[in-house]
Amino acid sequence: MIHLNIHDAVRLLDGLVLKEGPDLDIQKIVIHSGDASQGAFFVVLLGSKNDGHEFIRHAVSLGASGIIGIKEKLDQIVYDLSDFNGWLIGVDDTLKALGKLAFLVLRKSKAKKIAITGSSGKTTTKEMIAHVLQSNFRVHKTKGNFNNFLGLPLSVFEINEDDDVSVLELGMNAPGEIRWLASIVEPDIGVLTNVQPAHLQYLRTIERVRDAKAELLTGLDSKSSALVTNLDDQNAKRVADAFGGRKFFVSKSKKADLYVDGDIVWNGYTTKALIKSFEQKNAGVMLKFPYPGSHFVSDILLALGVGMILGVSLESGVSSLKSFTFPSMRFEKTILPQGALVVFDGYNANPSSMRASLEAFMLLASDKEKVMVIGDMLELGIDAKFYHKELGGFLARVGCEVFVIGEFAKDVCLGALQVSDCPNMHVFDLNQKNALALSLSLILSKNHALFIKGSRDSHLEDILYRLRAHLTET
Ligand code: ADP
Repeated sequence: MIHLNIHDAVRLLDGLVLKEGPDLDIQKIVIHSGDASQGAFFVVLLGSKNDGHEFIRHAVSLGASGIIGIKEKLDQIVYDLSDFNGWLIGVDDTLKALGKLAFLVLRKSKAKKIAITGSSGKTTTKEMIAHVLQSNFRVHKTKGNFNNFLGLPLSVFEINEDDDVSVLELGMNAPGEIRWLASIVEPDIGVLTNVQPAHLQYLRTIERVRDAKAELLTGLDSKSSALVTNLDDQNAKRVADAFGGRKFFVSKSKKADLYVDGDIVWNGYTTKALIKSFEQKNAGVMLKFPYPGSHFVSDILLALGVGMILGVSLESGVSSLKSFTFPSMRFEKTILPQGALVVFDGYNANPSSMRASLEAFMLLASDKEKVMVIGDMLELGIDAKFYHKELGGFLARVGCEVFVIGEFAKDVCLGALQVSDCPNMHVFDLNQKNALALSLSLILSKNHALFIKGSRDSHLEDILYRLRAHLTET
């Protein structure tokens, strides 16, 4: 971690210093008392089950140099800590304190900061950006999808002094969250992947989703920051229209700063597209991406755009993407013991990512018999049933065998029945994963391709584990 001057931290935290410790640098910030050591500050969080204040003694016993906790709570225990010679700082909100410390770290870092938000493809795009940049720079990036009030600061604390670029993902569930995260990061480059129906449970309408994503702009400096976004997405374009600084548009079909000239051609294994830069006016560079799916091309263009802004040539960016691999649980291809191909995309799901992934799978498995396991698309609020019925209609038209599982499985089935009298669909409850896996194990052969997708909270990976177990038992 980049060390922080204690006085800078105290000033920014604007809290109550209940005990003043020695003049030192904060060398490490921890949220688990067991990770504390000399030079570390233990930031005490209030979890849903545990109150971290109960673990202060533990952190102190391990040599923590400072404690940042809730003012009133620290006030109650300050007398019990008379033997503690470190800093004791009380604040109103320790999660906010964590964000402020992350802000300080980023201010001290020399790294260019790239912040990615959007409805789908944040993690994919973050990984692609890091991949494109790594040949020219020392790159720090968000771990996994550590993209919220807690995860973002924890990611930031891992930046090293010599990192040139930090690629950070900003996620949200409610208005105001991106504003806070963007204020921590103060991005040099903001990336908005798209604005689609997701998180409608909290935001209700696509306009409110758009407004929430537009909060990214509040962290950008209209004189020095750039915004990279997708011209093909009307709502993302509208967000960009409100930004007075440098804009970099990408498009799969229209002339933009970076765009696809001609058709995107994808077979089962590769996606090919001729990518041109409007500014360079040359013959373009042929992308050969080792996964099928035209939706990935939008993410790729955004990543290449960020690369170009930071001086990575289009040729070099395109060439590095040949060796890109997806983070786990995203379009993960494996072969089962008896030879069936599995595409597991159980990281997350909303209507557009579901459709995009299904289409990519169908191409990938065009010469196979296709079976699908479809879970819930969560957090869609009052429109959830509508979107699941719509998906059902789509699946019925596709016509392959589908196992639907979860709270909205019946709605998927109802949607299918509107299109077909007898859709090839089996409905399961979430507590029947084992039965579903068993059914799959009885039908799958090496001629099959299995697709599994649903929202993270459904944990559809359990089905895959159980399916493997059934297949190895038989
Ligand atoms: P996020 O981090 O925003 O949740 P991920 O990168 O984890 O997004 O991808 C989640 C799902 O969205 C995956 O199924 C992925 O294939 C799909 N996806 C990725 N990029 C896009 C895109 N540009 N448009 C639609 N779906 C996408």
